[in-house]
Amino acid sequence: MKRFFLGLAANYSKEDRRSQLFSLGRKEDLKDLEHFLLRKYNGERAILTKNGRSALTLALKAYFNKGDKILVNGFTCYAVYEAVKAADLDPVFVDINKDDLNFDIETLNKISDPAIKGIIIQNTLGFPVDIAAIEQFAKKHDLVIIEDLAHCAGVKYQDGREAGTVGAAAVLSFGKDKSIDTVSGGAVVLRHPCQNKITAPSKSPKLSDHLRARFYPTFGAICRVLTHVHLGGILMKCLVKIHWVEKSADNKLDISRKPSKFEARRALIQIKSLNKSGEKPIREFYLVKNRDEVLKKLKKSGFYFDGFWYEKPISPARYYQKTNFPEEECKNAVYISEHIINLPTYYRKNNLKKAREIIEKHLEDQA
Ligand SMILES: *Cc1c(COP(=O)(O)O)cnc(C)c1O
Repeated sequence: MKRFFLGLAANYSKEDRRSQLFSLGRKEDLKDLEHFLLRKYNGERAILTKNGRSALTLALKAYFNKGDKILVNGFTCYAVYEAVKAADLDPVFVDINKDDLNFDIETLNKISDPAIKGIIIQNTLGFPVDIAAIEQFAKKHDLVIIEDLAHCAGVKYQDGREAGTVGAAAVLSFGKDKSIDTVSGGAVVLRHPCQNKITAPSKSPKLSDHLRARFYPTFGAICRVLTHVHLGGILMKCLVKIHWVEKSADNKLDISRKPSKFEARRALIQIKSLNKSGEKPIREFYLVKNRDEVLKKLKKSGFYFDGFWYEKPISPARYYQKTNFPEEECKNAVYISEHIINLPTYYRKNNLKKAREIIEKHLEDQA
């Protein structure tokens, strides 16, 4: 049961759910979003896509060639791995630090391989990297920077620049629980001229994908209500089984499809209000020695925590095996995936106070 709490569109208000269901998209909505992104990220070309991984694939195809190696945060979503592979590139996973879950300049400086041509910056959970140092590193080794904004749209680096205004390309995801969430959709802004020609998607979204995006927040709300009578999990399981709901990781990469027009419309509204929502991370996190014990304590007080970002260095677990992840070289990432607790987004802030106390008490005891 508890497994079904997360990702049930708890971040959608009633108003959001209604607008997701009924908001009419027009052709101009796609154009309006493109124009806004071009201006915001000072780009040369903006392309809207079916999801973030398709946008990332296009960005990589634009700037790299088959067989190039790319530095990737060693603690990430399978979507990133999938995109790197789809662009015929080889990921080089870089270990992260325990403070902000990003790679840092000390770790990067130990890497030297002339086949490495680029670096994807992720700003994990919305915690910014030390951009000035990484930019210098990239310059020294002639690397192209790609900024993946799935977690960090609207976030500012220490030097005041906004994420997405530094690299050759800014990649956005509008997927579930991302910093902009319209259930699916994505975009890439190419900021620098690129050597390879890429084709923008020309096909409309599949009707099934369109309907899934429309209904997901409403289904989520129904399941959340039903959890109180222990039926929410069962219903969600059924909806997944009959493909009316799709797990995020299973959303197919497809560079030939555009997002739905209503998604573009809703994404534009959200992007415009990003900087008003403040710059808090999309998920707060703690690292605890004995996670099972903390979870047990939390459960005793009625808190079900699950769905950690990330439960494996490349998540979700069911895809992890495919990635040949170099655990020996990314020991921190492995440790963190086993010890991280994210504060869930499906409880109200006030309720979470008690949960925080439980975790912080545990941290004191273990110290
Ligand atoms: C979710 C995610 C993406 C892209 O996700 P889509 O589901 O394809 O929209 C890209 N990068 C990171 C770090 C992510 O978490």
